[in-house]
Amino acid sequence: MMRQFLRAKSQYPDAIVFFRLGDFYEMFYEDAERATGILDIALTSRGTGPDGNKIPMCGVPHHAAAGYLATLLRSGEKVAICEQMADPSSVKGVVPREVVRVVTPGLCLEPDALDAKSENFLVAVTPDGGVAALEVSTGCLRACEVEVGPHLVGELVRLDPPELVLATDDPQLRALCENTLPTAALRIATPRDTDTEPLGSLVSPSAHAELQSSPEAACAAHVALLYARAHRMDVRIHRADLYTPGARLVLDDAAVRNLELVRTLDGKRQGSLLGLLDETRTPMGARTLRSRLLEPLTDVERIRRRHDAVDIFAADPRFRDEVRVELGGMGDLERLAVRTGVGLATPRDLGAIRDGLRAARRIDAVLDGRPESTLDDVLAGLRPEDLCLDLLEALEDALVESPPTVDRQGGIFKAGHIEELDALRTLSTTSKDIVLDLERRERERTGIGSLKVKFTKVFGYYIEISNAKLDAVPSDYVRKQTVASGERFITAELADLQGRILHADERARALEASTFQALRRDVGEHAPRLHRIARTMAAIDVAAGLGEVAHKRGYVRPEMDGSRRLLLEESRHPTVEYFAPRGEFVPNTLELDPEATRFMLLTGPNMSGKSTAMRQAALAVIMGQAGGFVAARRAEIGVVDRVYTRVGASDKLARGQSTFMVEMTEASAILRGATDRSFVILDEIGRGTSTYDGLAIAWAVAEHLHDVVQCRAIFATHYHELCELADRAAHAANFNVAAKEHDDRMIFLHRLVPGGSNRSYGLAVARLAGVPPVVLARAQAKLDELEHLHAQNDERPSDQIALFAPAAPLQSEVGKTLHAIDIERMTPVDALVTLARLIDLAKQDDD
Ligand code: ATP
Repeated sequence: MMRQFLRAKSQYPDAIVFFRLGDFYEMFYEDAERATGILDIALTSRGTGPDGNKIPMCGVPHHAAAGYLATLLRSGEKVAICEQMADPSSVKGVVPREVVRVVTPGLCLEPDALDAKSENFLVAVTPDGGVAALEVSTGCLRACEVEVGPHLVGELVRLDPPELVLATDDPQLRALCENTLPTAALRIATPRDTDTEPLGSLVSPSAHAELQSSPEAACAAHVALLYARAHRMDVRIHRADLYTPGARLVLDDAAVRNLELVRTLDGKRQGSLLGLLDETRTPMGARTLRSRLLEPLTDVERIRRRHDAVDIFAADPRFRDEVRVELGGMGDLERLAVRTGVGLATPRDLGAIRDGLRAARRIDAVLDGRPESTLDDVLAGLRPEDLCLDLLEALEDALVESPPTVDRQGGIFKAGHIEELDALRTLSTTSKDIVLDLERRERERTGIGSLKVKFTKVFGYYIEISNAKLDAVPSDYVRKQTVASGERFITAELADLQGRILHADERARALEASTFQALRRDVGEHAPRLHRIARTMAAIDVAAGLGEVAHKRGYVRPEMDGSRRLLLEESRHPTVEYFAPRGEFVPNTLELDPEATRFMLLTGPNMSGKSTAMRQAALAVIMGQAGGFVAARRAEIGVVDRVYTRVGASDKLARGQSTFMVEMTEASAILRGATDRSFVILDEIGRGTSTYDGLAIAWAVAEHLHDVVQCRAIFATHYHELCELADRAAHAANFNVAAKEHDDRMIFLHRLVPGGSNRSYGLAVARLAGVPPVVLARAQAKLDELEHLHAQNDERPSDQIALFAPAAPLQSEVGKTLHAIDIERMTPVDALVTLARLIDLAKQDDD
């Protein structure tokens, strides 16, 4: 037996081997030592190894293995499951054992180890930026090609895989991945014999054709699939998508984290935007909503179609409720389909598929029964083409209402489904009556009133007679066993009966098990059809859930177009509003327009609500483009290509970057990546260095975004000196968040008003925070002194010029004028006029 273990271990040396021994999975040697550390179970030993030392061992009960397996996977371990390949009672000698599959953090089908509401990707990355994400539990593969650097980081953060396979051992790529996903298990792909298998033999022809258009993406997909194959994960891929990150709203890693889209900064789903918006009723709906929030669309028509679907549900509460009640009975059809396809589904899982198909049929009927409306085609698009009624019928005919979780104990099939099973069941029950009859007859024959016919698993049926009555035992009784209270006997009639009963039970169980496996195979053949229904139900679920949120929280359908406008009338921050006492959140109107103000400079005291206001604008864009309604009274969103955020840095500090370095890295990504279709929010910049450095950087960044990038942007700052820039730039405007001081106390009005704020309220906020009066008094004195000095300096014009000379914008005006010249089409008069303008601009520059 240990030889079997060592063979399994040599096949998968980097995995912990779960070695099935009766009712336990045992672990040996270093596997046992590693597992006890992680699982907090006792380390024991078994026999001695060839070196004469005891073999370390630990074990987990088979029925509770799922929980232990999940814990090992969370620690990044791989687990090779080595099963008994035959029933031990039917085998002489050592039971054959084999590794049937290897479960790894990213290759996992166990419901206990998966989060029902998130996808669980295995991601493969190639040195040239091929990225493939394989989701075996749903049978999906997606691949793309990105630039290695910030774009790869953004992709990894969005996919958030528990396991990564790198196609190279390049230390730089490795460090980038480790920094981005510190908790993911990182593997380097190793060439195995199976590597010769071409990509075409691992996916369907259509998926193969799709992947071929991007060699890097195809290469990453190949690495991921080979890794799965090497771990005996033979999942059929239902969907393979080659996607271009630019075809959707790009959110970099800073935006995903700082806007707390799918989890809060401290890692919780509750409190994130997703936590608030998720009113879905099915796991696949929850997963779809999550991926839509991380990958909003940029195609106006597709966004509108999603809004149409939400609209139907938002507007009709009764209809919405009817659909949502049915969705509640749906279960995880998507993952169940995959489990069935690979032969892992239990009888209960098939029962869940039947229940899901029943729910789908009822939902379809509800959709069908809805009164006609202008959105009929949208509704039609939500109805499944194929309800798999044949499968539903087969499952309904076969299965009992609540099938068991194991397939070897019987009780799976309905009476009337299998003739032989019915006969065996009748034999088994009538035989039990015959046993009772035999007991009564023997009591009468022997005159022993206490005589009992009993049964144990080890000894089978016997007649028990107490010590006091042994004299009355007839001679045809054969003694089987002596116990303290009496003797146990068998008779020829009882032995015959026992044979019939046991045989009938055993045969019935075996018959049920084999019929179940055949049924599972049949249903598994139809996994792609089930998968399609699951996707349709997920879309309905997301639309109905977002409709529910819209109705409950008063969100509005945004008007989408291809312009570069953004209007949010009386908008709110969805999560801050949710957690604030009812009615206390102050709505604000924000408007950005390429022809008017596209750059908002936001000033105001600490705590007044600057961050909240700008975040709510970014969230509205993301929610709208993801297909949801937004927290406002009215909204117009000109589709945005990228949302950039430079807000907060706390999450990266722990990873060894200084606050200022994080600020500058984020700013640099924005300045390089933003286009005139982007939306940028900058919450303070340049605070991590000296005042002049910081102010100078903030100024230059703001100016570049305004003059060159020309994107929509909101820039919150405490440098009220920057207000000057907004006053001067054509498309910038100052706003501040109102607050007032009353009796030495700050009152935050949280209202956005036009105009810059000409002072800061640092001391007032410090007082609010409880800084001791003596320190406050000293700070006040120091502030007076500094302000006095500054006023004196201001009287010396040369100092002012040094810091804020308006040279840059004018120079860029000269540059822009030159740039706009089309010499081929210029008349001599045009040339003279343009020259005069350039001279004018240059003169202004000299002044
Ligand atoms: P700082 O400059 O210190 O970063 P800030 O001006 O960015 O502060 P926020 O962090 O946006 O301020 O807001 C502070 C708190 O004020 C929030 O946590 C929220 O509770 C409350 N708040 C913000 N905006 C509003 C609003 N519109 N209505 C009601 N409460 C609000």
